[in-house]
Amino acid sequence: EASRRGPGAVALFEKHLLTAARARVRLDTDLRRAVEAGRLGVHYQPVVALRGRRTVGYEALARWLDPVRGWVSPTEFIPAAERSGLIDDVGMAVLRTALADGRKHGGRQDFWLSVNVSPLQLDDEAFARRLMAVINRFGVGPNRLRVEVTETALLESERARTQLAEVRRQGVRVLVDDFGTGYSSLASLRRLPVDGIKIARELLHDAEGGPDATVVRAVQLLAAGAGVTEVIAEGVESAAEAKALAGLAVPLAQGFHLGRPVPAQRAMRRSHTPA
Ligand code: C2E
Ligand code: MG
Ligand code: MG
Ligand code: MG
Repeated sequence: EASRRGPGAVALFEKHLLTAARARVRLDTDLRRAVEAGRLGVHYQPVVALRGRRTVGYEALARWLDPVRGWVSPTEFIPAAERSGLIDDVGMAVLRTALADGRKHGGRQDFWLSVNVSPLQLDDEAFARRLMAVINRFGVGPNRLRVEVTETALLESERARTQLAEVRRQGVRVLVDDFGTGYSSLASLRRLPVDGIKIARELLHDAEGGPDATVVRAVQLLAAGAGVTEVIAEGVESAAEAKALAGLAVPLAQGFHLGRPVPAQRAMRRSHTPA
């Protein structure tokens, strides 16, 4: 207990807490201003068919360039947005930007766009209706959109499952993000009402760093058994990994080797990535 070390220690401890709390408040305030001013950006990372190397879709990833802080990582500002009640504004802004960019830079090319959805956004009975209203306003077919959610959100909340079921009923596909990193077992896939899975890099790789064939085959069997049609390997960082995954008949992949997240005009200019 801090008080046993005397009043000086307590004061110091409280000062640290106060400093941390102030830093959080400043981050939240700066983020709110950026969101309200429409200053959040979106980068796009291709999802590539390993056979033929055609880009079939792009994941939209939120980006924040603050004039003072520089680039702030989503791993920092997404949790900040979640704790300060801004996450739905962020998510909807990313969706609108993605649909506008797809129309502007994608032209007639055929690809889907996927957006990340926070579990907190799904805790709203109007979520599915609002999502559909946005995509209808852009005149985009529901089959051109994917939403990515973590398995925790799917397993823990009845309300979230209801919203996702409605989204799927309307034709938007739902993908489990970071599959294999949650606390649940792989077998829980059967209970997830989803169309696809994005297999986390952490799950794919064995100790030597190459894709683990046993794990990949097990996940493919589970996916097929659960009627999950879209399987995407995440975090492919080398040609060797891409080759190994293709050899294991993994259809789709995403990762720095296949294409980094970049602005729309760069990402969507070409529909093929170099082999
Ligand atoms: P995520 O949805 O799993 O997105 C993939 C993350 O992995 C991205 O990080 C991407 O840049 C990174 N990545 C892609 N390929 C590779 C690779 O080959 N190796 C490695 N090591 N990493 C790779 P990013 O953009 O920093 O985003 C981090 C997380 O922030 C996302 O993980 C997602 O959970 C969250 N996020 C980003 N944008 C949004 C958003 O608009 N809404 C919500 N709710 N969350 C978002
Ligand atoms: Mg994602
Ligand atoms: Mg992911
Ligand atoms: Mg993630």
